[in-house]
Amino acid sequence: MSAPTLDTSVYLDRMSKVRAAMGEHDIDTVLLSVGQDMPYLSGYLAMPLERVTMLVVPREGAATLVIPGLEAARVVEQPGVFDLMPWAETDDPSAMIGNLVTGAKRVAVGDQMWARFLVELLPHLPGVTFERSVDVVGAMRMRKDQAEIDALAAAGAAVDTIAGELQRGEIPLVGKTEAEVSAHLGRRIVEEGHQKVNFAIVAAGENASSPHHHPGDRVIRENEIVLTDFGGTMNGYCSDTTRCVFTGEIAPDVADAYEVLFEAQAAGLAAATVGTPCQEVDRAARKVIDDAGYGEYFIHRTGHGIGLEAHEDPYIVEGNEQPIEVGHAYSIEPGIYVPGKWGMRLEDIAVTTADGPVSLNNSDHHLISV
Ligand code: ZN
Ligand code: ZN
Ligand code: ZN
Repeated sequence: MSAPTLDTSVYLDRMSKVRAAMGEHDIDTVLLSVGQDMPYLSGYLAMPLERVTMLVVPREGAATLVIPGLEAARVVEQPGVFDLMPWAETDDPSAMIGNLVTGAKRVAVGDQMWARFLVELLPHLPGVTFERSVDVVGAMRMRKDQAEIDALAAAGAAVDTIAGELQRGEIPLVGKTEAEVSAHLGRRIVEEGHQKVNFAIVAAGENASSPHHHPGDRVIRENEIVLTDFGGTMNGYCSDTTRCVFTGEIAPDVADAYEVLFEAQAAGLAAATVGTPCQEVDRAARKVIDDAGYGEYFIHRTGHGIGLEAHEDPYIVEGNEQPIEVGHAYSIEPGIYVPGKWGMRLEDIAVTTADGPVSLNNSDHHLISV
């Protein structure tokens, strides 16, 4: 789902920043296709089909959007941002793109460009060295502007509404299968204004110890934990939140662990101030869980960036020394997973401002008995 088309001036500004980054990284041409870098720079989202769409951005001179002729009518033209070059069914689009790239030595390609498109281009680009476009587009995409933050906040508020329903016991759980509850969450995600459901994980009891459990025909019983992790895309920007509820009186071992999880999530969020390396945010959350003796059960990174994509830079993980900047948006989602018994995760999306991190998810953070 593409973000709404923005004013041409926004794309002109982004293009000029990309060209500056191309200079810094010694990149002659950027090639973007399927994925979110292209709409970020041009407003146009390629159809993910076999006919190639390619935005060719040279460091100097006009960018060109090479597009299947039958899809040209979908494009909102952006004067000064790109020229349109439709190709007919019997044309060779790889040769057309090759001509546009002639003379380039270092070319950056988008992460999600299909291998097929690149493989078919290779014979037309002899001697070219390829890099990832994340070097020239990633830093910009990480720094969300106010309109992007507003879009993330709106998507976050929508899933908070659904989390509230879950916590008030308004979404039937006991006697339903995980798949049925997942379908219910998916319907609500759309009803609350998202255009697309990205995932609706529902994991009951022992299944919750698998962080990316695929909801199946397991029937939810009384007296067990139910982990829900759901989100979608609303006006181009993603939501993603995790809340757990307990179907009955909360078991003491689960209550003890949840208290640790609650503190860990708060510690991770509080650490995400301007200038703090991402790995320090991970360490802040992890330390709480380690100190309480649950370290071996926290088996994934603390979080991921979010924006046009559900998972994008910056990753909140050991080894990532990228400092948090104003406008960075990311999840803080520690978890504790005891194999074969139960699992739990608590996830908010947050954005860092000059005054510190602000959570965009504000449903109750406690483990609620339903
Ligand atoms: Zn995940
Ligand atoms: Zn997440
Ligand atoms: Zn999630």
